[in-house]
Amino acid sequence: MTVEVEETKCLICGKNISEGIICEECKTNVTEELCQKVAVFDYLNPDNELWASIAEKLVSGYIFREYSLELADYLNEDRKLYLKLLCMNLLYKKTGVSSKYRAFVLENADLCINSQNINDEEKNFVLALKLNAFLLDFRWKEAEELSDSIKFDKSFFEPYSIMADYYMKLRDYKKALQLLDKAKKLFPEFVERIEEESLDITHRSTGEKKGYKPPKAEDITVFYSFLDEKGIPHESQSNSRKNKVKESDFKPYKRYDNDDAIPNDYVAFWLTSEFHLKSEEVVEISAVKVCDGKITDKYHSYVKPVNIIKNPKSVSEENLKDAKIIKLVFSDFVSFVDGNILANVSFGKQGKLLERLARYSEKNEIKNTIFDVVEYAEDNADDFETLTSESLLKKYNLKDEVSGEKKSELTYKLIEKMRKNGIK
Ligand SMILES: [Zn+2]
Repeated sequence: MTVEVEETKCLICGKNISEGIICEECKTNVTEELCQKVAVFDYLNPDNELWASIAEKLVSGYIFREYSLELADYLNEDRKLYLKLLCMNLLYKKTGVSSKYRAFVLENADLCINSQNINDEEKNFVLALKLNAFLLDFRWKEAEELSDSIKFDKSFFEPYSIMADYYMKLRDYKKALQLLDKAKKLFPEFVERIEEESLDITHRSTGEKKGYKPPKAEDITVFYSFLDEKGIPHESQSNSRKNKVKESDFKPYKRYDNDDAIPNDYVAFWLTSEFHLKSEEVVEISAVKVCDGKITDKYHSYVKPVNIIKNPKSVSEENLKDAKIIKLVFSDFVSFVDGNILANVSFGKQGKLLERLARYSEKNEIKNTIFDVVEYAEDNADDFETLTSESLLKKYNLKDEVSGEKKSELTYKLIEKMRKNGIK
């Protein structure tokens, strides 16, 4: 077997090398200027033949620019980290280090700030990058604390842009625009970008564009509660219709084998619903966890419906106003249920509602086995009885309940009576 050695050229002297990006002799010739030049190398309109020929052989010319980070390793220990952070920032068009490098920034920012040979302006620049990484990670409290120490000087544009982004997210559009305006006078080379950012912020301030929010439901919840703590008004979190799973893509439920004995461990649940025109909306989930015939845990949560429900009958409007969106409640419910069997006395209807919750949470199946109490009783009755939840409750001298919480407990009582008294 022959191994082909891919030859490349030292990007400083052009000599052929078998590995790495520079030759042995050039390792002492790496300068900060060189690192920065590589980081912004315009491989589409190259002004350096040697670099163009190296970049050409790469999967993407962009990788060449990332060589700047490797080059920084050959710099003086004191300046190495700073140059890496500087180059990471240069690699991207938008200010402040991409998500790809933010872990590196958070790990190394303080180390960099504390190293020798870094001036105050450079320290401030690194602090701004750190703030940006917090913002990208949705770490609002830490971002807030850090924001107080960011200064604005004539040497770096990034603190202006990153702080403007921070103010924009906090809906302080006036401060954001003021900062960008100041930056426009100081950094003519960034004018185009500043105008673009200013326009975006202006649109948000006039309501043409909505206020910022993170893309994921979980992150929106955290962000909105941060805004609430600060007393900053924001839109309420809404369910996403966009990503729901289609009804036809939902997988059939896994059913309990009705020839088996009644399960010892299960979660009995009840979904309270309300109507909005023709669509039935879940507004509350209640459940009890049962182990060896005893309740060991309870679950209860209101659910924000997809449509606004006026004058709900079973819950109050107040309950729904502050309720979490479907995706978040459903994920809490799924972790409560864990791997348990799901028991319900009205699964014909409730199964549809459960499916809807799952579909709006971008799930195409419920993995748990379903124990349909009425169907189980029917299958195990000796006279092919047609049962309903009402007739089954009557059979065991149980009274129906109104509230969802009571209904889930009632399901538990019914199952345990069936276990104790038999079904026949
Ligand atoms: Zn060389």
